Amino acid sequence: SRRDGENNIKSFEESSRPQILYNIEIEKALVTALNQEELTLVYQPKIDLKQNRLEGVEALLRWQHPQIGTIAPSDFIPIAENTGLIHSIGHWVIREGCRTWVRWQRTGIRPFTLSLNVSPLQFAREDFVDTLQSILLETGMDPMFLELEVTESSMLSYEASTREKLTQLHQLGILISLDDFGTGHSSFSQLRELPVQVLKIDRSFIVNLFTDRNQEAIVRSMIQLGHNLGMKVLMEGVETSAQLEWLLKESCDYVQGYYFSRPLSETDVPFHVKETTTY
Ligand code: C2E
Ligand code: CA
Ligand code: CA
Ligand code: CA
Repeated sequence: SRRDGENNIKSFEESSRPQILYNIEIEKALVTALNQEELTLVYQPKIDLKQNRLEGVEALLRWQHPQIGTIAPSDFIPIAENTGLIHSIGHWVIREGCRTWVRWQRTGIRPFTLSLNVSPLQFAREDFVDTLQSILLETGMDPMFLELEVTESSMLSYEASTREKLTQLHQLGILISLDDFGTGHSSFSQLRELPVQVLKIDRSFIVNLFTDRNQEAIVRSMIQLGHNLGMKVLMEGVETSAQLEWLLKESCDYVQGYYFSRPLSETDVPFHVKETTTY
């Protein structure tokens, strides 16, 4: 009835009020976090299954709040995107990631790829490529070892300028991977036209690999689609040896997940790079 509807609206407003206050608090605390160096990056290995070795690492953002402790990116990235703070945070991530890569290289280990996540809002900025280039110059990061993880929504919303940016990045020698593949709406023809080198299948697809009967067929076609388009395919969220065996059988190129390694601190990464026979 009409009355019920009014009651629902009222209770919705009441219940959402604390959440709004909470978001404002987080926004204020995030500004402090940027200034007080409470943000850090951790690095999760990516394994090349054909060469049986670490191919690179993906930088993942963490917020070490002095009172609350570690806060996951899913709890603050959406707020940063809504408030525009994502631009300063995204800039910090690229700079810190590149500086760290250069520090690793100075230890004398073999070079490996650094992958950085880029928010759709950050990627949509007109000056994205220029800003990135100035960070490369400033830090000494070799673009041949840089990979940007861009989501389907970023690639498809701003068609013409997106393709131009991706082409510019590609010409700089930067790898582009399509993150969270399968969760968006890209069509075969759109995928074919984009200069993307790696398809990164979202973790949600491996969770039910052996419990849902259609799932194996779905993931198998995603791997084949990537290969037919001349791309490499990475499966994220690999947690068991059974999943690994299945991916080897299906010729998946790269894997990432807790089965191999959780995200590591900067200082732990070089030890994993040196071990070539662990996987
Ligand atoms: P994503 O890019 O899809 O990253 C994969 C997420 O899965 C990471 O969570 C990672 O820690 C987690 N993960 C990796 N292997 C496993 C596994 O075997 N099992 C399970 N259950 N989880 C696994 P995390 O670090 O909490 O990041 C969540 C999301 O936050 C990322 O999803 C990414 O979209 C975003 N994010 C992280 N760092 C950044 C950043 O620097 N910039 C931007 N814009 N977004 C970021
Ligand atoms: Ca990612
Ligand atoms: Ca994902
Ligand atoms: Ca993602």
